[in-house]
Amino acid sequence: MIYKRSSALFAEAEKVIPGGVNSPVRAFKGVGGTPIFVKEAKGAYLYDEDGNRLIDYINSWGPMILGHAYEPVVNAVIEKAKKGTSFGMPTEIETQIAELAVSMVPNIDKIRFVNSGTEACMSAIRLARGFTGKDKIIKFAGCYHGHSDSFLIQAGSGASTFGTPNSPGVTQGTAKDTLLARYNDIENVKQLIKANKNDIACIIIEPVAGNMGCIPPKKGFLKSLRALCDAHEILLVFDEVMTGFRLAKGGCQELYNIDADIVCFGKVIGGGLPVGAFAARHEVMNHLAPLGPVYQAGTLSGNPLAMAAGLAMLTELNNDKDIFKRLAEKTEYLHKGIAKVLIENKIIHTINRVGSMISVHFDEAEVVDFDTAAKGNNETFKKFFHGLLNEGVYIAPSAFETWFITDALTYEDLDFTINAVNKVAKTL
Ligand code: PMP
Repeated sequence: MIYKRSSALFAEAEKVIPGGVNSPVRAFKGVGGTPIFVKEAKGAYLYDEDGNRLIDYINSWGPMILGHAYEPVVNAVIEKAKKGTSFGMPTEIETQIAELAVSMVPNIDKIRFVNSGTEACMSAIRLARGFTGKDKIIKFAGCYHGHSDSFLIQAGSGASTFGTPNSPGVTQGTAKDTLLARYNDIENVKQLIKANKNDIACIIIEPVAGNMGCIPPKKGFLKSLRALCDAHEILLVFDEVMTGFRLAKGGCQELYNIDADIVCFGKVIGGGLPVGAFAARHEVMNHLAPLGPVYQAGTLSGNPLAMAAGLAMLTELNNDKDIFKRLAEKTEYLHKGIAKVLIENKIIHTINRVGSMISVHFDEAEVVDFDTAAKGNNETFKKFFHGLLNEGVYIAPSAFETWFITDALTYEDLDFTINAVNKVAKTL
């Protein structure tokens, strides 16, 4: 495939935008080469500036669960835009989407809308700290909760030590309040709680991790976290920015039958517009301003265009009784097809999948946490990525990302993809 115009556009962008992109992973740093510039998209396909058609397995990193330019969403945005794009005043549609979200997700009474997943998670931990009167949080290595300071922390010499910042600009003062645990390792969490007795406000987790590839929670892991939180008056925060309204109508709380204390949303909830949200039961949410002392605000929060897109999207997901089953079936078909051709071509790999989230790791060991995810062969991944791109299949340009399956994909698209994997596997 030819990417002449994309390359030229990237060179222009680099002159005026740091790294040529407005979010780092778009820059292809992990896989080399220059990013593809999108011209438009429809259904399961992206069309780039050079006229190539790509089957899209990123789907804006999750939100386009029903496909690109999905008509009910597009029409809702157009109709709303004609009536004004922002007021900074309350509108009825905010209550409508809030009512719908609260009815779809178990165990939440109130929801507040923000503009991104980062804001949702940042606000959730502030609320947890304000509610409990405690300062520290536990997060898991390899889980991403947006780019706010408290979350940009990586493991130091061991998971039981205080975190150290992994971005300049995050102060030691902030880093010391973020404790790091290993995903799927309950003993590790117990040790951290023991060493920081009475200091931990919340444990924040991606209940199915999607930022080190897709990693499911081990059986009983989330339940044990819930029990630990109950025993130590710690709030359990589910970051469902990826999993919310994707793995089930009620997200992972429904899927695993576990109640979280605060739930964060993003991606799907905005129908592709910049929306995030966090939600909890009354007693927690009533601590937020203007009812309570925990401050949180946003000029564009609850923006009418974003709410219109989100409401149209959630309405579709709520009304379509089979959507999550259908998505899981398509993903399982893809999983089996890819596994078959990789085995036939003797490529060492592991595939993880939950519902419509799937990732291919080039290592044979089970991938259960950040360390095992990092063992994957990145050179093989790079070839795999570029090989697929050349065949017209676009997966995330990093071995640590999940593929998001959209309902717009047909079985012909899936067969096309499996066939492309077969061709590429012969070159690995
Ligand atoms: N949490 C999770 C689980 C995410 O995957 C992401 C983004 N990929 C975020 C939070 C941050 O969301 P945003 O990029 O909208 O700020």
